[in-house]
Amino acid sequence: MSGAEEKISAILSKLKARYPEEMKTSLSYSNPWELLVATILSAQATDAQVDKATPKLFKKYPKPSNLAKLRPTQLYPYVKSINIYRNKSKNIIKAARMIEKEFGGKVPDTMDSLIKLPGVGRKTANVVMANAFRKNNGIAIDTHCITVANRLFIYNTQNPSKIEEKLMKIIPRKEWGNATHLFIALGRDVCTARKAYCERCVLKKICPSSSFE
Ligand code: SF4
Repeated sequence: MSGAEEKISAILSKLKARYPEEMKTSLSYSNPWELLVATILSAQATDAQVDKATPKLFKKYPKPSNLAKLRPTQLYPYVKSINIYRNKSKNIIKAARMIEKEFGGKVPDTMDSLIKLPGVGRKTANVVMANAFRKNNGIAIDTHCITVANRLFIYNTQNPSKIEEKLMKIIPRKEWGNATHLFIALGRDVCTARKAYCERCVLKKICPSSSFE
C-alpha cells in the first residue's frame, strides 16, 4: 500500500467506526424516483426540511406519470417550506416528463442519462446511483465534502468536479458511496465550514490541518 492509500484507509476506518449510522443518505425514500425528487429538493435545504415535506407529496403523486401531468404551481403547496421551491418544482415536473417520455417511466441508472434530467447534476446523480442502485460511479460532493477534502488533503479548490476527480484517484471505488456519507457526517459534526473542532475529531492525529497539539 502506498502512503496515500494507507492514509485514506485509516481515515475511512476511523470515520466508519465513529459514524456507523451515517453510511447512507438521511433522506427518506422508498424507491429511486422518491430519492431523485428528495435529492433535487435537498439542494441548499436541510434533509430534515425535505423529509418533512415529501411524505404528503409522495402519497399524493407516487410516480413520475402522476407528476408529468401537473403544472409547477400545483406542486407548490407541498414544497413551499423548502428553499428555491419554485425552480425545484419546475425541474421535478420536467424530469418526470422526461422519465416518462425517454426512459419508460423508470429513473435511469447511469450517469449519462441521469444528468440529462432537469435539475440533476453529477452530485444528485451520484447520490441516486450510490443509494438507490448501489452503483459507485462517482463521489457526490456537497459543501461539507468540499470543506473536509480541503482540510484533509489540502486541495485548495472549491470546484466540486476537481475535488471529485482527485478523490476518485485515491479512494477505492467500492468506498465512493460511503466516502460521501462519512465526509458529510464529519462536516456536520466537527469539521464545519465556519470552524473546525479538531479536539473532538477522530482524525485529529492524522489530519494535516488539525489544530490539536
Ligand atoms: S482534525 Fe480538524 S481540520 Fe482535520 S478533519 Fe478533523 S476537524 Fe477537520
